[in-house]
Amino acid sequence: MPQIALLSQETIDKIAAGEVIERPSSVVKELVENAIDAGSSAVTVEIKEGGVSFIRISDNGCGIEREQIPLAFLRHSTSKIKSVEDLFTVTSLGFRGEALSSIAAVSQVELITKTNGDFTGSRYLIEGSKEVSLEEIGAPDGTTFIIRNLFYNTPARKKFLKSAQTEGTYIHELMQRMILSHPDVAFKFIMNNQVKLQSSGNGNIKDIIYHLYGRDITKALLPIAHESELFKVSGFIGKPMISRGNRGYELYFVNGRFIRSQILSKAIEDAFKPFLMQHQYPFTVLYFEIDSSLLDVNVHPTKMELRFSNQQELYREVQSILSAALVHRDIIPEVPVDT
Ligand code: ADP
Ligand code: MG
Repeated sequence: MPQIALLSQETIDKIAAGEVIERPSSVVKELVENAIDAGSSAVTVEIKEGGVSFIRISDNGCGIEREQIPLAFLRHSTSKIKSVEDLFTVTSLGFRGEALSSIAAVSQVELITKTNGDFTGSRYLIEGSKEVSLEEIGAPDGTTFIIRNLFYNTPARKKFLKSAQTEGTYIHELMQRMILSHPDVAFKFIMNNQVKLQSSGNGNIKDIIYHLYGRDITKALLPIAHESELFKVSGFIGKPMISRGNRGYELYFVNGRFIRSQILSKAIEDAFKPFLMQHQYPFTVLYFEIDSSLLDVNVHPTKMELRFSNQQELYREVQSILSAALVHRDIIPEVPVDT
């Protein structure tokens, strides 16, 4: 007879970690989202060897109180929601309380943090879900996470990683989206001791697009601004002449979150269809604000997919707003480029 036994907490954590932390870029995503949720105005991300050996994320946010630190690393511990009802109105990027426990299950974590109200900071070490130490140290306000040797104790997972260069590229692309999705946060991204990306945090989207994608794209932008009962959208779309050979530049954000949505992609691509050749994709940087009661963000652990109520209306409106901008593109004045 096979014996039934409960898995050890360590095994449960490792299995669960696999859902949230697939690769180094997942660590960066979760920790940058935490930094933003903590109200930071400046976030610095540094990686080495594609993030596999070293990831450091520093913020100037609210910090974590010393007594709360071990709790933050428990599974399903969060300061962001209290009950399932809160899920319908959640405005923070995180809320499942899974990131820190998952990261700590599969790496060596060093945390240095200080709240504004405390005189001293704390330094906490945890490896493979096992607490190593918690001590008092001097530190600036805010939080720094250092993640070393990701997947050191899950070799099967580590084998599936791509080259350090490719993993680094994933993080680089993620950071571009983070910078676009939070124009009022000053980001710095350092890879292998080189500053790769930097944003001022002045809130100007056009400056960011110029910095990330250059002058030619910035000159070919059409501004979008529209408000209806269902949603608000602002941002830019690229004139058809700067269309791309892949979907990598079809970016849109819903309530500050970079997401993928079939319905939004279809609305955008259908609007561009009459203007593009086959296998060409639009350049867009669009910011949607949709009442969170019309959304379900809790579809998948990585929160990359959103469900909308009113799908059809959303599709129709987005498609027609973008179509109108494209049809009139030659009479819409060019976005001045003065950067
Ligand atoms: P979630 O983000 O879903 O709440 P996490 O596991 O990512 O879960 O984080 C657990 C908790 O740790 C957060 O709810 C927050 O209170 C705290 N925390 C994590 N990162 C930071 C940070 N950079 N600054 C301040 N608090 C943080
Ligand atoms: Mg989180």
